[in-house]
Amino acid sequence: MQPLEMSAVDLVAALRQGDITAVESATVFLDRIEATNGSINAFLAVDREGALARAADIDARRKAGKPVGPLAGLPVALKDVLCTSDMPTTCASKMLEGFRPPYDADVVARLRRADAVFLGKTNMDEFAMGGSNENSAFGPVRNPWDLSRTPGGSSGGSAACVAGDMAPVAIGSDTGGSIRQPAGLCGITGLKPTYGRVSRRGLIAFASSLDQIGPMARSAADCALIMETIAGHDPGDSTSLAVDVPRYTDLLDRPLAGVRIGRVPEHFAAGLDPEVAKGVEEAFAVLMAAGATVHDVQLPHAKYGIPTYYLVAPCEASSNLARYDGAHYGHRCKDLGQRTAGHTGGFESPLVEMYCRSRAEGFGPEVKRRIMLGTYALSAGYYEAYYAKALRVRRLIRQDYLDAFQTVDLIGGPVSATPAFKLGEKTDDPLAMYLVDLYTVGTNLAGVGGISFPCGFTKSGLPIGFQLQAPPLAEPLLLQAADRFQRLTDWHRRRPQAVGVAKT
Ligand code: GLN
Repeated sequence: MQPLEMSAVDLVAALRQGDITAVESATVFLDRIEATNGSINAFLAVDREGALARAADIDARRKAGKPVGPLAGLPVALKDVLCTSDMPTTCASKMLEGFRPPYDADVVARLRRADAVFLGKTNMDEFAMGGSNENSAFGPVRNPWDLSRTPGGSSGGSAACVAGDMAPVAIGSDTGGSIRQPAGLCGITGLKPTYGRVSRRGLIAFASSLDQIGPMARSAADCALIMETIAGHDPGDSTSLAVDVPRYTDLLDRPLAGVRIGRVPEHFAAGLDPEVAKGVEEAFAVLMAAGATVHDVQLPHAKYGIPTYYLVAPCEASSNLARYDGAHYGHRCKDLGQRTAGHTGGFESPLVEMYCRSRAEGFGPEVKRRIMLGTYALSAGYYEAYYAKALRVRRLIRQDYLDAFQTVDLIGGPVSATPAFKLGEKTDDPLAMYLVDLYTVGTNLAGVGGISFPCGFTKSGLPIGFQLQAPPLAEPLLLQAADRFQRLTDWHRRRPQAVGVAKT
């Protein structure tokens, strides 16, 4: 089998056995990116030179019998929200164009120590705000299954590069669905771990109480492999959990007999595309055939998920993004000081002018919308009515999950109500775009884990995603159930034709 078609698990094994060198493997993916990225726009930066130098160093160490890390030579793509000391980090925003962080995110440092080879930085919605990747300042990403459609977002570049065989593994971040939704729309597997399981240090903050980093790959087994490297306590992130990291890969191959999976009847209400509903019901049937039992459960406050999320996330964003003022961080407008003395162009002072113009130029429309929504909801007189209330509803949503997990081990259902939608279809309607997050925001508000993986295709050939959610720190069970599903089905092995079948 050629490297482009291999799972990350198999590729790491082939590298270890010397069937392929790290340089050969990196070259194959870099060439594929060169050939394909023009039509997909999954990468904002590709580090050919750096990747090949690192790969050569790993090969040399291996040849000399020196120790190498557990992922030695595995090519990995990084969402551009992760700080990298040797590559630009833009968050797909003009605000951070040209920014080169002085340090690596904890996740990046861990992958580096494990001897992964970074291919480049992937496109995303600006500051991770969006569900279609159309909010990138550097152009949308196209779905490899149909180039006229969105790959989802905000980790759209990470999902599309794995689906388009440009990387075996990518790292994404998920604040309200940004790993699971694009994974679902691109036919790959994405894990949003429990809040605090993976360090957020060096992840450029969107909504700090919701943000979580996780792996995106072709299979649950590949996600398990990556989790062993990226999970773990980090004293540099005060919300990082000091809990031992299980050997996720060793815990995969266990029977599902006796595992109770919850099914939320409201998930199948109006609005769910019939083909998606069919795919999801068939996925339940596969899990039942594997020995799991399915039970109806209630999440009574789930209907408040979207309004709650779209208060909590913008409030935190308005606070987190205050630092981009042209002075401390970020883009500064160019022609300051060129105005005639005494004329402040309607601003109360030159300093205020600098802040206002820098932010007006640096941020795109959706980021501005979120900052305004959040600032409004946090302002005196509205705080109690909006933000404080949203926090109370969030507590109820979390309690719903904890109550449901008294009677079931997992909750299954759709990731998105529809398959990948057309580029431009929802760009004029922010509310329609926010509703895309219906099935994913609850996981983040509750702080629990979720995984999404393909469970079928529509008649027109678009992937359908299935989601499982689990109690805090039950990632082994999420991965085990998804892996069992993938041993019984081959949806995750299908490759898109839109960008040509990968050749090596
Ligand atoms: N689509 C959601 C939003 O726009 C989720 C984004 C995310 O998870 N980063 O906020």
